[in-house]
Amino acid sequence: MSQASLQIVPVEPDTELASLHLMMQLLQNVDVGLILINEQHQVQMWNNFMENHSAIRTSDARGSNLFELFPELPAGWLKKKIDSVFKLNSRAYSTWEQQPRLFNFKSNRPLTGNAEYMYQNVTLIPLTSTNKKVSQVCILVYDVTDIATHKLELEAANAALEKLSRTDRLTGLYNRGHWEERLVDEFRRCKRTGRVSSLLMFDIDHFKKINDGCGHQAGDTVIRALADLLLQTQRETDVSGRYGGEEFVTILPDTSISQALIFAERLRLRLAATVVDCQGQPLQVTVSIGISQYDDMLESHQQWLAQVDQAMYQSKHNGRNQTTCYVHE
Ligand code: GH3
Ligand code: MG
Ligand code: MG
Repeated sequence: MSQASLQIVPVEPDTELASLHLMMQLLQNVDVGLILINEQHQVQMWNNFMENHSAIRTSDARGSNLFELFPELPAGWLKKKIDSVFKLNSRAYSTWEQQPRLFNFKSNRPLTGNAEYMYQNVTLIPLTSTNKKVSQVCILVYDVTDIATHKLELEAANAALEKLSRTDRLTGLYNRGHWEERLVDEFRRCKRTGRVSSLLMFDIDHFKKINDGCGHQAGDTVIRALADLLLQTQRETDVSGRYGGEEFVTILPDTSISQALIFAERLRLRLAATVVDCQGQPLQVTVSIGISQYDDMLESHQQWLAQVDQAMYQSKHNGRNQTTCYVHE
C-alpha cells in the first residue's frame, strides 16, 4: 500500500525583496542624513539620522514641506539649487566652508569638541524614474564637525603662531624681523609707484641712567609706555616696530618729509611730557628722532635705514631731545 507522504519544500525567499529590505535597513542606519523630496519640496521619507537630529519622526515628516519643517534653511539659495538638480539632472553641493550648516542640528560631541552645532557638507542627488525624468531629489547631510573643528583649530593656532612670530614680546609692536619685511614692501612700492613715504627712528636719551638708577624692570616699564604712546600717536596705516633695545622705527606711508616732521615733533613732545609711573616712582624721558623721505636714488631698503639712523645720531650729537631730517644731496 502506497502511503501518501507530505513533503515540505523550502520556499526560496524573494531575493530581490530581501535585498531591498537590507538596503532599506542600511539607509535607515547609515550615519549620514538622508532626505527624499519631490519637486514641491515635500518630504517623501528620511532616515534615522534625520529622525534623531530633528526629533521629527519619518511618519510625521512625510508629505510636509521641507522649508516649513526647517525654517532655518536658506530658502532662496537652496530652492534654486534643488530646482537646478531637477532641471539639469546633475548633482549639487554645499560645503561647510561655504556655509557651516544648512540644518541647525546640535553637535554630537559638545563635551570633546568646541562646536555647539554640527558642521555639514550637503549633497543633492537627482533620482530618476523609469521615464528618465528626475522624480525626486535625495539630500545627503554629512556630519563633518570633527574635520571642520580640527581645521578651524589648526587655522587659529597657525594665526596665533604667526602673530607671535612677528610680535615683540615686551611691547606688542612688530619685532625687527617682521618690521624689516614691511619696510622692504614699502620700499618696493615706492620704487614702483613713485609714491612718497618716510621713515622715522627714535632712541631713548640716556636710557642707561634709568636702568642703572631705577632698575631694569623700571626700564622695561618705560619702554612699554613709550611703545603704547607711539601706537596712540600714529595713524592706522603707519607701521611701527621695536628695532633694538630702546630703539623704535615707524614707516609712514604716503607721507612727505615735512608731514613726517610734524608727526615726529608731536610724538617727541608727547613722549617728553609723559610721566611714567614705575611702582610709585615718576619717570620722564626724552627721545632723539631721525626721519628720512624715500628717494628714487636709494638702491635698497638698507640704505634708507642707514639714512634715518644717521639723522637720529645727528639728533644725539646735537644735544638730544630733537628731530633731524636726513638731507639728500
Ligand atoms: P643715548 O642717549 O646716547 O641713547 O644714551 P643711552 O644711555 O640710551 O645709550 P644707548 O642707547 O646706547 O643704551 C641703551 C641701553 O638700553 C643699553 C641697555 O642696557 C638698555 N636696554 C636695551 N634693551 C633693554 C630692555 O629691553 N630693557 C631695559 N630695561 N633696558 C634695555
Ligand atoms: Mg638710548
Ligand atoms: Mg640705543
